[in-house]
Amino acid sequence: MASYDYDLFTIGAGSGGVRASRMSASYGARVAVAEERFLGGTCVNVGCIPKKLLSYAAHFHADFEDAAGFGWSVGATGFDWARLIANKDKEIARLNGIYRKLLEGAGVTLYEGRARIVDAHTVEVLGKRYAAANILVATGGRPVVPDIPGRELAITSNEAFFLPRRPDHAIVVGGGYIAVEFASIFNGLGCRTTQLYRGPLFLRGFDHDVRTTLAEEMRKKGVDLRFDADIARLDAAGGRIRATLRDGSTIETDLVMFATGRKPNTAGLGLEAAGVALDAEGAVVVDDHFATNVPSIRALGDVIDRVQLTPVAIAEAMALSRTLFRGEPTTMNYANIPTAVFSHPNIGTVGLTEEAARKRFPAVEIFRATFRGLKHTLSGRDEKTMMKLVVDKATDRVLGCHMVGPEAGEIVQGLGIALKCGATKAQFDATVGIHPTAAEEFVTMRTPVPQPAAQAAE
Ligand code: FAD
Ligand code: NDP
Repeated sequence: MASYDYDLFTIGAGSGGVRASRMSASYGARVAVAEERFLGGTCVNVGCIPKKLLSYAAHFHADFEDAAGFGWSVGATGFDWARLIANKDKEIARLNGIYRKLLEGAGVTLYEGRARIVDAHTVEVLGKRYAAANILVATGGRPVVPDIPGRELAITSNEAFFLPRRPDHAIVVGGGYIAVEFASIFNGLGCRTTQLYRGPLFLRGFDHDVRTTLAEEMRKKGVDLRFDADIARLDAAGGRIRATLRDGSTIETDLVMFATGRKPNTAGLGLEAAGVALDAEGAVVVDDHFATNVPSIRALGDVIDRVQLTPVAIAEAMALSRTLFRGEPTTMNYANIPTAVFSHPNIGTVGLTEEAARKRFPAVEIFRATFRGLKHTLSGRDEKTMMKLVVDKATDRVLGCHMVGPEAGEIVQGLGIALKCGATKAQFDATVGIHPTAAEEFVTMRTPVPQPAAQAAE
């Protein structure tokens, strides 16, 4: 490898690229990383972290309301959007600095510019070419906006984090993670919010009970949630935006945000010239060891479009670093990845949905609890928590855990370990609950949902 400038040249200092670069350097590799925009990538700058901070901000709305039942008199409340965004920006700048120090500390050379692949072993950045034994494409993805008239009037999540002021009314288009999270954020921050989803029920791919429960709870919180609804065109209307829906109805609004999916960042990277195969969506095609059809070029994270989550990009990066520079060929296990949606209320989920389990297993038992949390006996809030276990009847193995309710992500993280260990329902039942919590419901559900009702949920 001595004839190369680097053993690894990473393009993109996001969740996956930073971890792969640092880990590889810690195993003795000579590593460089190029970043064109911001250290830490999507997650740190326009994703998980600022999103969770805005989500926290939006929760206070309900907290103030709930306080009264506990004896508190909350005075007049006010919300300062500019202060929230400024504080968020300060925190992100701090994190950018930490990422820089982490890379420096690991001995990784950072090039701050847009990189391009010249050939199987050459990367060009800031006008210079570098030879690398391995090139890693970790360039992430970007939001896509449907091609409708007036689309330039709309924003995506990228811009939502930097709005100069809170809109009075917002339309969020889409029915995935980002759409439900931002509809909840805008609504919680006091903005009248309409969410439009093109299909009959949002969050396609999630458990049906999760989808219906969240829809009900979001509506209770005041989100104007409309299914089978989509925007046909947007027009400027005296400082506002007029959205014309496919059914011909119109909504006047201050903000339209499209959360209609993301595409891999592969354009203009030199991949085609280097002969790297892409799929129909433009994602880099890789094998179990993240190698493309050009063996010296690897790719991971959102750009391979397998599972678009930060911990997945990080785990893929660790597997790659071990494979390349520690002599331990490591593959990524995509089974039972826990995930949370930070909608209000949250979703936490791991394993198979009821619908998927019924397709794969001959007999499935469903355990489900829907209840009002203890806190709301005094707050008076009409919010339901839903928890659900999907069990393989033949082996008693728990195949899936699903929750809609406060801190669902915090709760389901632990259940992810149980599912990784192949836990059975009997082992869930043998686990002593923590009382009084909502989480204890996961170890106290004893009676399966009657079969016909369970099948009706399909
Ligand atoms: P990125 O983090 O996107 O990093 C790619 C980097 O490559 C970027 O910094 C980009 O500037 C750089 N780059 C691209 N092209 C070039 C080039 N030619 N030269 C140099 N640099 C280049 N995941 C979760 O797990 N939890 C969450 O709560 C969560 N919330 C999210 C909220 C939003 C709004 C969004 C959009 C995403 C969220 N995600 C969340 C997903 C998560 O952010 C991504 O899965 C993760 O960031 C992917 O990491 P990555 O390294 O593949 O790409
Ligand atoms: P998703 O793929 O999750 O959702 C896209 C949504 O947009 C779907 O409801 C889809 O509908 C709809 N849609 C797609 N195209 C159109 C169109 N032309 N017109 C109208 N609607 C359309 O993407 P997101 O952008 O929400 O998020 C991207 C990924 O980022 C997520 O899948 C997730 O992996 C990650 N993420 C993770 C978070 C977390 O961990 N909490 C938070 C945010 C993002 P349909 O279902 O009908 O196709």
